[in-house]
Amino acid sequence: MTIRKLVTIAVLGMLVAGCGGARDISGAKAKKAELPTIGELAGPLANVQAKKLFGTKSSGTRQTPAAFGSYAKGCLAGGQQLAESGPTWQAMRLSRGRNWGHPELIDMVTKLSQFAAQQPGWNGLYIGDMSQPRGGPMLTGHRSHQMGLDADIWMLPPTSLSLTRKQRENISSISMRRAKGAYVNDSWTRSHHNIIKAAAKDPRVARIFVFPGAKVQMCDDERGDRSYLRKIRPWYGHHYHFHVRLACPKGERGCRDQNPPPAGDGCDDARQWQANILNPPKAKPTPKKPTTPRKPRRELVLADLPAQCKAVLDAN
Ligand SMILES: [Zn+2]
Repeated sequence: MTIRKLVTIAVLGMLVAGCGGARDISGAKAKKAELPTIGELAGPLANVQAKKLFGTKSSGTRQTPAAFGSYAKGCLAGGQQLAESGPTWQAMRLSRGRNWGHPELIDMVTKLSQFAAQQPGWNGLYIGDMSQPRGGPMLTGHRSHQMGLDADIWMLPPTSLSLTRKQRENISSISMRRAKGAYVNDSWTRSHHNIIKAAAKDPRVARIFVFPGAKVQMCDDERGDRSYLRKIRPWYGHHYHFHVRLACPKGERGCRDQNPPPAGDGCDDARQWQANILNPPKAKPTPKKPTTPRKPRRELVLADLPAQCKAVLDAN
């Protein structure tokens, strides 16, 4: 590939992602040695879509807890189920069976919910999708959330923590954005700031994804230590919930972190994204050479997953 082509791709990536790094949420991993995959050891299941295998498991495994792979290509050993209801949380949309995670994630989320419960008007947190019992790709929705290290947390302040299963299927979170995500709306409160800040300050957290207007608001409002803002990454969507992502737990060698966010608080990048929403940059003149359309992304098959995921899938 020529340098010019590389530069073009890089620039396009930045336009698309508004400086967020085109693959921020999918968790493109650091340039370490690729993990060995299941490959031929998958036998007759090698070419079966991994989401059909992991998406139908209803229990975790009794293995030592471990995250294997990367955020958008991995699995979870020894997954723990977040209790459907606790003193300061409720898990939502129970029918999806995605209230599972690495024990570190369960601990992080429950502690954050205790903090949230101290905020005015908040009884705790409504917890959205985490991972499937054994992680892995899902039949619907997310590309990431595969290692039990990602959690979606609703922006709706919980007033009741005694919602029935049925209510938890039917109520919706609320959107925090206006002007297509350039700004927060009137539902945004200082408590949202405080809760997201507390999440970012947890040393286990690698990134938090939230819409650009919320990041800019937090940048504008923060008067104290700003270092945590680095972890807060503007991203598409994420105005009904914010997304917490833990780094690989210490000592887990089968888990691949993504590159750390760029140095600094990231506020200028977020403001640039905001400006681009308000005033979309003019489309570039068509290039002389037609560019080849991107191939649609291939579905992950079992053989693609990290080698350890075979035992995770096969365990009783
Ligand atoms: Zn998410």
